[in-house]
Amino acid sequence: MTAHRLQPATLSFIDGIPYAGSYGDVYHSDDGGLEQARHVFLGGNGLPERWRGRERFTIVETGFGLGLNFLATWQAWRNDPRRSNKLHYLAIEKHPFSAQDLAQLHAMWPELASLSSALRDAWPVLVAGFHRIELDAGSVVLTLAFGDIADSLPQVDAAADAFYLDGFAPSKNPEMWSPQVLARLNRIAAPDATVATYTVSSAVRQALAQGGFICEKRPGFGRKRDMLAAHYAPRWQPQVRPLPAVRDAIVIGAGIAGCAASERLAARGWQVTLVERHDRPAQEASGNLAGIAMPLLSRDDNISSRLLRTAFLYSVGRWEALGGIGRAFAGEACGVLHLANDAAHAQMQRDTVDALGLPPDFVRWLDGVAVDAMTGSAGTHGAWLFPRGGWVTPSSLCAAMLDACGDRLQRRFVSEAMSLERTAAGWLVRGGDGNAIAEAPVVILANGSSAMSFPQTQALPLCAIRGQVTHVPADVLPDVPVVLCGEGYVTRPANGICCVGASYDFDSDRQLRQASHDENLARLAQVLPLAKVDIPMAGRVGFRCASPDRLPLVGALPDMCLPISGSRLRDVPRLPGLYGLL
Ligand code: SAM
Repeated sequence: MTAHRLQPATLSFIDGIPYAGSYGDVYHSDDGGLEQARHVFLGGNGLPERWRGRERFTIVETGFGLGLNFLATWQAWRNDPRRSNKLHYLAIEKHPFSAQDLAQLHAMWPELASLSSALRDAWPVLVAGFHRIELDAGSVVLTLAFGDIADSLPQVDAAADAFYLDGFAPSKNPEMWSPQVLARLNRIAAPDATVATYTVSSAVRQALAQGGFICEKRPGFGRKRDMLAAHYAPRWQPQVRPLPAVRDAIVIGAGIAGCAASERLAARGWQVTLVERHDRPAQEASGNLAGIAMPLLSRDDNISSRLLRTAFLYSVGRWEALGGIGRAFAGEACGVLHLANDAAHAQMQRDTVDALGLPPDFVRWLDGVAVDAMTGSAGTHGAWLFPRGGWVTPSSLCAAMLDACGDRLQRRFVSEAMSLERTAAGWLVRGGDGNAIAEAPVVILANGSSAMSFPQTQALPLCAIRGQVTHVPADVLPDVPVVLCGEGYVTRPANGICCVGASYDFDSDRQLRQASHDENLARLAQVLPLAKVDIPMAGRVGFRCASPDRLPLVGALPDMCLPISGSRLRDVPRLPGLYGLL
């Protein structure tokens, strides 16, 4: 499978201009890249004027390249005292440059040095998928989709105010300008969207016109006589998705999911009421001493792997912004070893890294000798090393996320949400005594399998799976510098305790069981064969919330009372304002 293999760009120049040999084209006009960005892309979209006085402005670019258009835009936005509050910039790029190559390229524009160095500091690892970077303390949100436009564009959900079409000359790179791509830009266009590009190719104009854009030629940049500017004015009524008038949400459940949802909503200007039955956050499954942060790999790069890769990389970046793992909250970015069970598994691990072309700052395959040297074991078969992985104490991460909400958060703890009632204002959440806890237009269920306790959501396909973790004092285990995973796992010490886990039981027993400890010791023997543990057992029981395919349920929850009008996902009727993060 090579579908999600990312092929980074190869840096080369022709007459001092960055050049892509595989396309036979240059990255920008030889009359000046920055000036071209300003004339064609900013000017062609009526910027900076059009973002003035707006809450947010969204730009979608096809072909991020060296980021010159982005940097020119960011610079103009920063220098504009009447800029929008937020700038969203989403760019698709099939062949991203490495940060080192970008440094060499960006050195050509010293006036952009502070912005370009901030961009490179946040530059993602070169793996396929969506990467979100927040710059200027979150006012500039750069979303990079690393992949082919044909795969990436259909996944974009946006209301673009401006499009920058910059994908090499149409004659040299027709895929980037295909009628399918151009005509479908309308799917993500805001009602007054505009488009700018340097090409005036008639095929491009025709495809845009088919999508409802009215094109006009304008004076081009440098030696180019013309460029194209277009605005969205379809003969049909474009769909408008109104932004919520009241940014007020109730989040139910103060585990890692609920705290993360609260933090992100507060960062976007929402008022959040967090409802939790315990007196503190992270008292159930998120109360474990240590949680492991790692991605999942599969040879066919399946949907779980892609989702977890994106989520893992996003989390690691977000945690840095929160103040850093081991600083703002307990944990270590010590790396995680995912051990192979046997020689065949080791070979599969190695092939997966090669086949997907995964970079060493994301994952490295280590042979048995290297693993033995790192763990002090003998005779292991090999492992994936995730150098950015590690462990965190979820309760301290939850506390850091809630602190970051500031006064946008209201904590309603020792309050158990027992019913949800539709009201004119949205949803009313009541406790067991029938008293109102909170009311808001939006409710997000982040309370694990307890989400099924409401009549509206009792049919969600979720179940609770018991997991018992065994606590082993660190001094009875070999000191290993990384988290070890395989059939089971052992973390590095959190307050002198290593967590070994975890059982997987289909019952609801909250008591610790010796049988589960014994299973965990067998898991420990698999990942750390030389460990000898012969002490009375301690630990913790939690319940995982699981769906049948083990993917999370995220988004608007279905209305089970209404008939489904068709067989597509979008035909499922939803409960307005009721969401799950489960
Ligand atoms: N806008 C860039 C800048 O400001 O630096 C320059 C873009 S360069 C002219 C065109 C970019 O499109 C290249 O980086 C190239 O890798 C990318 N590209 C080409 N074909 C693509 C495709 N099918 N899907 C996504 N990106 C593609």
